Amino acid sequence: MTARRPTPVVPAVQGRSHRGWNGVRSARAWKRLLGVEHTVIEQVRFDEDAQAVVACVRPTRSRRRRCPVCARRCPGDDQGEGRRRWRALDLGVVQAFLEADAPRVGCGAHGVVVAAVPGARPGAWFTRGFEDTCAWLAVHTSRSAVAELLRVAWRTVGRVCARVADEQDARTDRFAGLRRIGVDEIAYKKGHRYRTVVVDHDSGRLIWAAPGRDEQTLEGFFDALGDDRACQLTHRSADAAAWIANVAARRCPQAVGCLDPFHVAGVGHRRPGCGPPRDLEHRPQGRGDRRCHRAQGRQVRAAGRTRRT
Ligand SMILES: [Zn+2]
Repeated sequence: MTARRPTPVVPAVQGRSHRGWNGVRSARAWKRLLGVEHTVIEQVRFDEDAQAVVACVRPTRSRRRRCPVCARRCPGDDQGEGRRRWRALDLGVVQAFLEADAPRVGCGAHGVVVAAVPGARPGAWFTRGFEDTCAWLAVHTSRSAVAELLRVAWRTVGRVCARVADEQDARTDRFAGLRRIGVDEIAYKKGHRYRTVVVDHDSGRLIWAAPGRDEQTLEGFFDALGDDRACQLTHRSADAAAWIANVAARRCPQAVGCLDPFHVAGVGHRRPGCGPPRDLEHRPQGRGDRRCHRAQGRQVRAAGRTRRT
């Protein structure tokens, strides 16, 4: 049986190294690598058990004992559950963690909570950089691929995305300057569940979505939008669903109704003998009709590729 090797420690972080580097310069490099700010790096070591790089850190003096929600300085409550680790972005193929004390503070507005850790969102076990990367990947690829690449659980990807989306939601006004919208529904669970979606045709972005496909669901969008902003809508596109037309007639009667280009194209490519179109009153037959439909579709071409039923 061989003797266990001592845990390797990066010497430059603890003092002057034999290569002439000093601890300050090395700590700065590690802060860049780990993507943390307002943090003092005390030590960096390689954990043989976890096969990961662990950086022991503490917040700078100005960032200590702050509420993670409102960022106010609060009186300390207790030491919590001791030291904790937050997963950072991998360093090459090696996982990396931040390790720090997690004392609790008593905030007048938010009660007793774990003190804020610079570089991590409240309640998260990951650094902000890790979560931002995870959310970006989730937008551009499948959740399974993200989970495998980042070595996290499939459900964790969803929780990370929710935290990132909530933070962005609080910072941005998705309804600012809204003029032309598109309303439709998407199906999931093999067509047993539906979700109403609203897109901004000018930005091409999804701005609102909620479970259901009925008038009550769409009323929720206009409630969130507000009557003043609903009056500023100039165009709305949708298929011929009555539940969309009824709500639009009540909440934004001034907006010009346009046919959804996706459904127009679908009718144009319908095979002969498949019966009458479900959504539209007639299918374009001659060149004149096609021009008419193209003209209507041109107004909403910026809708982007949303999967629709
Ligand atoms: Zn607070």
